[in-house]
Amino acid sequence: MAESGLSAGSGDDLREAGFERAEWNGGSRARRLLQMARLMWKFFFDKPPDTRPQGKIPVDPLTHQALEAAPDRSLWRLGHSTVLLKLRGEFLLTDPVFAKRASPLSFAGPKRFHPTPIPIGDLPPIRAILLSHDHYDHLDKRAIRKLAEKTAHILVPNGVGAILTGWGVDAAKVRELAWWQHTTLDGMRLTLTPTQHFSGRSLWNRNRTLFGSWAIEDGDFRIFYGGDSGYFAGFREIGDRLGPFDVTLLENGAYNVRWPVVHMQPEETVQAHNDLRGKWLVPIHNGTFDLALHPWTEPMERMQALALAEGVRVATPRFGQAVRLDAMTPGECWWRRLDAAEATAKLAAHSDVMS
Ligand SMILES: [Zn+2]
Repeated sequence: MAESGLSAGSGDDLREAGFERAEWNGGSRARRLLQMARLMWKFFFDKPPDTRPQGKIPVDPLTHQALEAAPDRSLWRLGHSTVLLKLRGEFLLTDPVFAKRASPLSFAGPKRFHPTPIPIGDLPPIRAILLSHDHYDHLDKRAIRKLAEKTAHILVPNGVGAILTGWGVDAAKVRELAWWQHTTLDGMRLTLTPTQHFSGRSLWNRNRTLFGSWAIEDGDFRIFYGGDSGYFAGFREIGDRLGPFDVTLLENGAYNVRWPVVHMQPEETVQAHNDLRGKWLVPIHNGTFDLALHPWTEPMERMQALALAEGVRVATPRFGQAVRLDAMTPGECWWRRLDAAEATAKLAAHSDVMS
């Protein structure tokens, strides 16, 4: 670690980092509230029925022993954008969310579709947590407080550190970075890179903290973790400056034509992967929380169609399934198996009634 402790971002830093220039910040608070109210109505009272799975999502349970025994350059999807990486004998964890709901409230808000493959208590010591931004589906207070005990370093975009220390996390563990700043850890280089997104944990603290993505360089092996972002020219710049990437972990889900600037349609995810000069794409930000208005399998199906049409190498591991980063394979379309199982169960129930 080059440094530890907080390097708090001033308001000027945050403005320079691109907060105030973008159009998605536009509009009065009254207009934003009205838009929010309309969306909330649609979310709670007018949602299509297939935004959540009908059956059980397959999850491969993980154990401490299996993780310790796994080779370096392994990856496990634990949920939404929560990815565990094993590099150089150490574990890195992106945006750890273990909560039942991606919400400020324990009794309301998007509920998760599946359990996590491993509880926090069973995870091995974590060398570093990488956070992309402060939204609820990426920053889970209880998970962070629990994980902080077994985590050496928490790397965050400017401004997010104060949230963590406000929750009681030891400031010495937290390192804040601005875009393009990097830190080194066990010989690996971790760079905070730009995203086109927004931040805030309530309607009253929008864009007070920075948001970003991470480029992880393990020697000549490079991984990109995209956090949340709309499609923008930044992907090409990141690809030029820090690529090519062996593996990109990019959002593919929770998109909508109503919010085109802050999340990507699957076609844009593929374009971002190509801009980054990625070899393998692991689509994330899907399959765990109901955060949009599209059918829950749509992001994966659209991505599969694109992968076939454009020859993009896409890997879709099950939650908890070990992935060898230097020997990637496409994996199975597990979301189809779930639907088939459900259909079979329905058919069986139907024929029971018939017989
Ligand atoms: Zn977000």
